[in-house]
Amino acid sequence: MSSVYLKRRISHRIASGHPWIFANEVEKMDEGIKEGDIVEVFFYDGKFTGKGYINPKSQIIVRLLTRNRKIEINEEFFIKRITQCWEYRKKIGYTENCRLVFGEADELPQLIIDKFNDYFVIQTLALGIDLWKPVIIKAINQLFKPRGIYERNDVPVRELEGLPQKKGFLSEPFDTKIIIYENDLKFYVDLENGQKTGYFLDQQDNRRAIQHIVKDAEVLGAFTYTGTFEIHAAHYGARSVLGIDISENAVEQANQNAELNNLQNTRFETANAFDVLKQWTKDGRQYDVVMLDPPAFTKSRETIQKAITGYKEINLRGMKLIRPGGFLVTSSCTNLVSPELFLQIIDMAAKDARRKIRQVIFQTQSADHPVIWGIENTHYLKFLIVEVQ
Ligand code: SAH
Repeated sequence: MSSVYLKRRISHRIASGHPWIFANEVEKMDEGIKEGDIVEVFFYDGKFTGKGYINPKSQIIVRLLTRNRKIEINEEFFIKRITQCWEYRKKIGYTENCRLVFGEADELPQLIIDKFNDYFVIQTLALGIDLWKPVIIKAINQLFKPRGIYERNDVPVRELEGLPQKKGFLSEPFDTKIIIYENDLKFYVDLENGQKTGYFLDQQDNRRAIQHIVKDAEVLGAFTYTGTFEIHAAHYGARSVLGIDISENAVEQANQNAELNNLQNTRFETANAFDVLKQWTKDGRQYDVVMLDPPAFTKSRETIQKAITGYKEINLRGMKLIRPGGFLVTSSCTNLVSPELFLQIIDMAAKDARRKIRQVIFQTQSADHPVIWGIENTHYLKFLIVEVQ
């Protein structure tokens, strides 16, 4: 097996367990290494660091799969790891729908597998894991009786690895518009054309968290996508629910989801949240609960200010629409905004809106997306409910 040696001064990050090795942290490596090879990595002094897959084309040149030199990286390794992921999900209570594999947090870097009852969606976001796709499919087939497996590799980050963007069936073709059950509700999920893997499983516990505050409330949800939070609100007893999203397609699906659950008091409209929230404040509209789940606003640290401004602005507009004693339910899904920073942004928004707030709940993504301390991007979702006085 080929060897890679790290520079004398490597970052504390690698030594303390982070699986990524950047190209500029490598001192030397054996000749003839091919992209996707499994390599052994050593610290400068020759001490073993770990084994992982390499891609000399990528800035993150190696991603470690194990710190144990005795473990062989082969078919059995991947099948065993994926089996362990499933055992863990069962143990913590996620069986029907779950993120079965959450990349780095499951020691399977850049592999995502979402389970939607009998259907599976996978993403292999680095070359080194993409090569193992046949084994990953084999593992899914061995562990489950899948009715379908679909690949959602239509993600730009693959290009950093020299991989093409693509999507398609990894099983016999099937109808990719499926129905899933979550908290006693039904949702259509479009595995082929939905956002990301089709459905945001990471909010599944947070959707349940609105249960008490929406009772008898007039609810406004913005950035609703297929209406999951709003449909939960109606189910938990909201008096009326309006959801808005900028995507016509999302709104159409949200309305179908409302119909699927026989909800009469829930409707969805296409609109830009930034514009209408401002306008509705001017119009004097008021709601008991406003829910916001905006997109990341930025993908890079360089433009982080853009994200901060976006989050602050939208939360400020949201708060202004809330009746005294009502609630703001707000999320942020980028790991570039830390939990501390997110709270600061909400605090600034409240001050600008001249509203006093009181924290009800502050949590992260659901537990089928484990957080690993020291691997920052595994802790990415912030979910906050505040009372707005
Ligand atoms: N809450 C959803 C996920 C929301 S994803 C769920 O749990 O399933 C973010 C959504 O924001 C996307 O559907 C996107 O279309 C929408 N969006 C982005 N910019 C917007 C804007 N300016 N106004 C309204 N919606 C917007």
